[in-house]
Amino acid sequence: MINLLGMTLMQLQELCAAEGFPKFTAKQVCDWLYKKRAESIETMTNLSLAQRARLSEVAYIGREAPVRCQVSRDGTKKYLFGLGVEAVYIPDDDRATLCVSCQRGCKMGCKFCVTGQQGFHGHLAAGDILNQLFSIPEFESLTNVVFMGMGEPMDNLDAVLDACAVLTSDWGLGWSPKRITVSTVGIIPSMKRFLDECPCHLAVSLHNAVPQERLAMMPVQKAYPLNQVLALLRQYDWSGQRRLSFEYTMFRGENDDLGHAAKLVEALKGLECRVNLIRFHESDEAPYKTSMPSTIAAFQNYLNRHGVTCTLRASRGQDIDAACGLLAGRQE
Ligand code: SF4
Repeated sequence: MINLLGMTLMQLQELCAAEGFPKFTAKQVCDWLYKKRAESIETMTNLSLAQRARLSEVAYIGREAPVRCQVSRDGTKKYLFGLGVEAVYIPDDDRATLCVSCQRGCKMGCKFCVTGQQGFHGHLAAGDILNQLFSIPEFESLTNVVFMGMGEPMDNLDAVLDACAVLTSDWGLGWSPKRITVSTVGIIPSMKRFLDECPCHLAVSLHNAVPQERLAMMPVQKAYPLNQVLALLRQYDWSGQRRLSFEYTMFRGENDDLGHAAKLVEALKGLECRVNLIRFHESDEAPYKTSMPSTIAAFQNYLNRHGVTCTLRASRGQDIDAACGLLAGRQE
């Protein structure tokens, strides 16, 4: 059976052609899926009864409500879907962001990340990614989506590109690409394809600009060293609509002194970008500690004084293990 949710207009046109439906049927199905957010094929009332019956034989709409929701003191909500997929809803004044997962677990093995320590358990299809948005009650209020939950988006790029296409195309939700940010640890071939094919923002997990130290916390540094990642990024124009940011989690005594700040400034020289500092959330599964607030402030000041726009991301959802690097898909 084919999951219609997550299919692009072109994929639906191929499906309709294979079934002998008129070409415009694909656009009608798109409207039902993405504009009217239909949950069943039976409700697609401008398709003939015969078409609906045939479509129901070969396809379904993969809408699945979350099985659990934990609410933080600060209003952040962590949704758990089947098979341990998690998404985090983060309301913030005039914004409401959903952080979605693109894989179950992750292969990248970052030493500070609970997801990474639990290994890889499978890719999510585009429909599984979109279901995280479509099936929460806050869908209408969402202003932004970030692909920063479980998994490495560039390791499941076909599904991520299809999900972004649904979000941003006229035949889909029609969102501005500026509302979507896709993260990566820096898998160079997939990053290049992403940058060539998708107009959404990119966030690169950097965390340490000293190569040997980065390697100790992020195994991906061996295959795709940071200097090569930055060399690729320098080939693209970042002065337009698309934004480039770097995620830098602050680990006490590991990457948080002014020497590290200087290395970071040097590495990013001439790149139009911003750095988001993230307070680390300690867990039993990761051998790192949180930097002191004064250390984080000094690091941030250094970057800003040296021409690198730097913000400190507010900690959200700590009490429900919804913060960065803590998604583990634990099912009770
Ligand atoms: Fe994977 Fe991201 Fe965790 Fe690294 S930080 S292990 S890329 S989920």
